Amino acid sequence: MTDLKEYTKKRDFSKTPEPGEGGERPGDRPVFIIQKHRASTLHYDFRLEVGGVLKSWAVPKGPSMDPRQKRLAVPTEDHPLAYATFEGVIPEGEYGAGTVIVWDRGTYRNLRLEKDNNGLSMEEALEEGKVEVWLAGEKVQGGFALIRTGKGEDARWLLIKMDDDEADARRNPVDTAPDSVLSGRSIDAVREEEG
Ligand code: MN
Repeated sequence: MTDLKEYTKKRDFSKTPEPGEGGERPGDRPVFIIQKHRASTLHYDFRLEVGGVLKSWAVPKGPSMDPRQKRLAVPTEDHPLAYATFEGVIPEGEYGAGTVIVWDRGTYRNLRLEKDNNGLSMEEALEEGKVEVWLAGEKVQGGFALIRTGKGEDARWLLIKMDDDEADARRNPVDTAPDSVLSGRSIDAVREEEG
């Protein structure tokens, strides 16, 4: 169920600065990453390490810390682990053309594995369409659920903050902490320096 063929097929690595296949996690725990991507429209790419790749969703509004806010999350192709540290400018005419920064990153725990008697692996939770993870990021912390609704072509996923101690309707890191956790740069600065 993890597959980098689509990732590779969509890109011309002689033109894009994005990484090819490969990469390693830095520590023992699986990683998550949220990249801010100003392409044709601004969105946030939410990625979870599963089975040696980054399972990915494009979240137009980014994550919310308010459990009442359900954020649309559109599945995209698996990305290589090396993508977790990618920031740069994807040139005009290439897939995903625009600027990317690492908006947040950290490790995560699979809450469904811990909670249920018959703990589900991430692969099983994805298959079932109900993922629950505890994110330990710099900007975003706590439980987050990814829920699939609808079937086939109509399937959509929602990213929802779980109601725990880290939930906080008044905190809005998408607005208050817009820059890269990797380099401290704004998306405009990356555009200017690397575009
Ligand atoms: Mn994107």
